Amino acid sequence: METYSPYFRKDLSRLPIHDMGDLDLPQGDKQASLQIIEQVLSEILSKKKFPICLGGDHLVTFPIVKESRRVHPNLHLVHLDAHTDLSDDYLGETLSHSTVIKRIVDILGTGRLFQIGIRSGTEEEFQTAKKMRSIVSLEQKALRSLVRHLKGKPVYITLDLDIFDPSLLPGVGTPEPGGLMFQGFLSLLRELRPLRVIGFDLVELTPDYDPTQVSAVTASVILREMILAFCRP
Ligand code: MN
Ligand code: MN
Repeated sequence: METYSPYFRKDLSRLPIHDMGDLDLPQGDKQASLQIIEQVLSEILSKKKFPICLGGDHLVTFPIVKESRRVHPNLHLVHLDAHTDLSDDYLGETLSHSTVIKRIVDILGTGRLFQIGIRSGTEEEFQTAKKMRSIVSLEQKALRSLVRHLKGKPVYITLDLDIFDPSLLPGVGTPEPGGLMFQGFLSLLRELRPLRVIGFDLVELTPDYDPTQVSAVTASVILREMILAFCRP
């Protein structure tokens, strides 16, 4: 992958980026893993750095947002995903990739969540979303009105890679047909670019599910564009 983006006409190599590498998380110990992520985020934010986190299970967004909200009390979440992730529990488990956004709403309070790309969820989840008016369509008019609404407010963006169509990015835990193609994603980024983003993540990449490895390549270009769109050194 080139570091230069012909779309934003900017070069990644000009930005002061530090790669911390992988966090050493204890396999199978969810609570300990969440605590480690929270601790590392606290360190990053205390140094006034812009966190960019990569996963893995969407649940990682929970400790990241929890910690970010301590620094930015008025934090809003823009959630890009095929799924609502608004279940109250998943097979009895309250902390999982399908409950993560619900847990975040519990912390942020109402009116702070905006969801884009959603095309899958239970009837109950969609009712919850409707009550919160959290789902925003991909139409330009709706996106512009969202950007106006969020003007000046601190925003965290979580990008679940299954927002993309599985024909483009099959290497995710729960692929869902009918998703974004790359050009559509660039248009979406251009609309969201004026937001005051204080951090973001890319999650749910599961490279082993894609023997062609194209998903990982696509995800790396998506990451490059996200960095160039939102990081302002
Ligand atoms: Mn998803
Ligand atoms: Mn998700």
